[in-house]
Amino acid sequence: MSGNEQKYIDEAFADNWVVPLGPNVDAFEKDLQDFLSHDDPSRSHVRVAAVSAGTAAIHLGLILAGVDRGDEVMCQSFTFSASANPIVYQGATPVFVDSEPDTWNMDPHLLDHAIADRVAKTGRRPRAIVPVHLYGMPARMDDILAVAAKWDIPVVEDAAEALGSRYRGHECGTLGRYGILSFNGNKMITTSGGGALICPDDESRARAVYFATQAREPRPYYHHLNIGYNYRMSNISAGIGRGQMTVLHDHIAHHRMLASLYASLLADVPGIYFHAAPSPDFEPNYWLSTITIDPSLTGGLTPDAVRLHLESLNIESRLLWKPMHMQPVFAGAPAYTNGVSTHLFECGLCLPSGPWVTPDDVRLIVNAITSLL
Ligand SMILES: *Cc1c(COP(=O)(O)O)cnc(C)c1O
Repeated sequence: MSGNEQKYIDEAFADNWVVPLGPNVDAFEKDLQDFLSHDDPSRSHVRVAAVSAGTAAIHLGLILAGVDRGDEVMCQSFTFSASANPIVYQGATPVFVDSEPDTWNMDPHLLDHAIADRVAKTGRRPRAIVPVHLYGMPARMDDILAVAAKWDIPVVEDAAEALGSRYRGHECGTLGRYGILSFNGNKMITTSGGGALICPDDESRARAVYFATQAREPRPYYHHLNIGYNYRMSNISAGIGRGQMTVLHDHIAHHRMLASLYASLLADVPGIYFHAAPSPDFEPNYWLSTITIDPSLTGGLTPDAVRLHLESLNIESRLLWKPMHMQPVFAGAPAYTNGVSTHLFECGLCLPSGPWVTPDDVRLIVNAITSLL
C-alpha cells in the first residue's frame, strides 16, 4: 500500500459511490491508459475497461474475439489455469502449445505447426491465440503476431503478471488485439482483487463494458439480446487501484533491483541459473525472480528440496507453474509439446520477490540456497 489508497476509498464513502462504476473506476482506467502509453505515442489509442478479475478480462477478450461454442483456442500450456479456464466457459476447447526455452513462453514455430495441424484435422481455424508473459517475461510477440497474422487469428494477450514489462519498447498488454491485466493480491499492483481488459479503441471497450454489465440494451426498461456478466470493478476496489498507481513505478524498479541482485549473486554458482531476459528487446518487470537447477551439477538437488530448506528458515518459495497439458482437468485437450515446460516444471523455482524483500533478504536467501551445494 502506498498510503494514498485510503484517501480514494474515503472519497467514495463521502460521495456514497459504493457501487460498481463511479469516479474511481473512471480515474483508475485513465491512469492505466496513461501508463500503457507513457513514452509510447503509438499506444495512445488504447482504452481500458476495469473489471472484477483478470480471469473475467480474459473471458471478455475471448467473447470480443468471437470465440463461441465448439471453437478451438490456442493457449500457452506453461501458465496459471486462469489463462485457459475462460476458454472452457465459452464452450470452446483449449489447444495447448508448449514454450520455447529463452522466454519460457509460447513457442512461435510450434504455434504455427499446431495451427496448421488443427486446420488439417478439423477443417477450421482456431478462433483466438492466448500467449502469456509468464513471471513478467515478455513472450516473443513479433513472431507470435506474425503467425497470428498469417492465419488471421486474433491474439488475446495474457499480461496478468506483466504490468510494466516492455517488448521492443511497447508495454505488454498492448501488443495483441486485446490484452488483460490482473490486480489480484499477489500481482504487481493490487485492488484486493480485480483486472482490466485492454482494448484497441473506444468501440471495443464499450462492447466489453456492455458484456461486463449484464448486456443491457440502451432502453428505458431492461432488454437483453445477449447473455451478460457481472464483471465490472467496484468503485472501492478502483480507489485502491488509484492509490497503487502512485507506486507502480517504484514497485517495478524494486522488482528489477531484486532480480539483478539475485542474478549477480547466482552468476558464479554452478548448476543454478537465473531466468534473465534473452536480449534488450525484452524488458521484464521481474514480477517473480525465478531460477532453474541442473541436478547433474548440483549433486541431484531438486527444486522441492530447496523449497523445503527455505521453508525451514521461514522463507516462502514456490515451484513453477505446472503446465496445463499435465493437468488432469485438461487431459482431454489437444496439446503440442516439445518437453520445455515439463522440464521447467521439474527443475525451476520462484524466489521471494515482493515489495518487502530487501537486498539483505536476497543475500540471506542466496546463501541458504548455496549452503545446500
Ligand atoms: C493471476 C493470473 C490470471 C488471473 O488473474 P485473476 O485476477 O486472479 O483472475 C491469469 N493469468 C495469469 C498468467 C495469472 O498469473
